Amino acid sequence: MNKNLIIGYLLLLSFTLSAQKQPFSIFDPDLKIANQMKMEELKNSKVDEYLYLLCDKGGTKLTGSSGILRTDTLALLEMQMLGLENVRIEQAKKWERGGWELNKAYMAMCAPYYMHFYPAPVAWTGGTNGVLFDKVHYFSATTPEELAQLKGFYTGKIVLMPDVTQYQINFKSLASTYTDEQLKEMEYQPITTPKKRIGMPTKNSLLTYQEVLQFLRNEKAAVIIHENGDFNVPVITFFPHQMGNEITPCEINITSEHHGLMQRLIENGEIVKLEIEIDVEFINDESIYYVVGEIKGVDPKLKDELVLIGAHLDGYPMNNGAGDNVTNCVAILEAMRILKSLDVKPKRTIRMILWNGEEVGLHGSKGYVQKYVKDTEGKKLSEYDKISAYFNADYGPGKFRGISTQNNLALEPLFKEWAQPWHHLGFTTVIHRNYTSTDHVTFDEAGIPAFQFIQDPLEWGRGSHRVMDFLERLVPDNIRHNAIIMAWFAYKTANLEEKLVRKEF
Ligand SMILES: [Zn+2]
Repeated sequence: MNKNLIIGYLLLLSFTLSAQKQPFSIFDPDLKIANQMKMEELKNSKVDEYLYLLCDKGGTKLTGSSGILRTDTLALLEMQMLGLENVRIEQAKKWERGGWELNKAYMAMCAPYYMHFYPAPVAWTGGTNGVLFDKVHYFSATTPEELAQLKGFYTGKIVLMPDVTQYQINFKSLASTYTDEQLKEMEYQPITTPKKRIGMPTKNSLLTYQEVLQFLRNEKAAVIIHENGDFNVPVITFFPHQMGNEITPCEINITSEHHGLMQRLIENGEIVKLEIEIDVEFINDESIYYVVGEIKGVDPKLKDELVLIGAHLDGYPMNNGAGDNVTNCVAILEAMRILKSLDVKPKRTIRMILWNGEEVGLHGSKGYVQKYVKDTEGKKLSEYDKISAYFNADYGPGKFRGISTQNNLALEPLFKEWAQPWHHLGFTTVIHRNYTSTDHVTFDEAGIPAFQFIQDPLEWGRGSHRVMDFLERLVPDNIRHNAIIMAWFAYKTANLEEKLVRKEF
């Protein structure tokens, strides 16, 4: 064979091999759809409008409060306006904790001098029944013997719980995005087994924090004050009240600076007095809901099968739940708007669901799964064989940088192929991490392929679950990016010949 012919043959061979490696042909109509999705978002985005509606207008979103029902209704109206089908607010289950509303929260130190504090009442604890003006007692017992001697002493008093943290100056930047190296590191997932958590003892004490707290609840202290948060941004927490049970005393979280100030004053012999007014309301007979709507599938054989996309809409009292999780609810709604605008006619039905009850125990998704997927005895229900996948979004306002297969190794090649058109936007990575603590877990545990996206951390830890989770924490362009990716994954899953392969082969 002459030299030129050999070179020509080798060139042809390498071209053929490289052509085989390409997952998309240049005529792949789906790439045209990918382009249209991106252009639709760049030209006609409704992200800013949806953000205002679900964040500012909706307001606070505690499960079982008037705020979440107001926001559910706003979402429902938008979904109807988009022309989605079967739009409804559906009951997931009865809510054994009942509803809780915060009507007023005021707290200030009045002696030895005036200082206004930012109180975050623990949801589902009681109020103060009007204005309380009294001396603060710092909880001092450190042994079970001392605790026994204090029986009866704290009843009806304002008690400052022991401090739990030592403030450290932080030299790290407040917000971050993943570097390429960090994303690469995330692909490495060695086998590890979970470690048991043990009760945290209070500083220099033989008593655990929980023992001290239970003692004060039993003693019916008037107000129990926790150190939780810093920079005038307290963390918001919940008490697991059960409807019909006696209401537990008022508990309040304040920041370590205000807690530390009172602690030092008291330890140095000053009389510290607080004025506190917490007005709360318990509502019996409340339910947990979710908001649902869909784009019907058109394939005669596959149209009853489902691809679910969702995010939780519920949140906390005292904030508007911007980063946790309005940002991702807007991405879901915008993804549906993109699919609807392009009139993609998916083979399978694409259904969006905005959950309530996530922050208090994934109750919205649990209610759905127990109604339609698998009951508590493990019996398979109507949608068990119909749902191809559930894609969830709940890791703050960061950009989607990749997706986890949730330990389903079989899906790696497919997801890598689907990520390819979006490398230029920064969506590159497929990992096998077993993500926890949000609604896809409910589906994963029921045997349905369910996924969570990798999101840049941004200011994670500053906004979420704290009193300052507002629209200022968000980056609308990240939501536009996330909406495109969400629309694409829903569309690709809906149009596959088969359902996504499950972990239990
Ligand atoms: Zn969340």
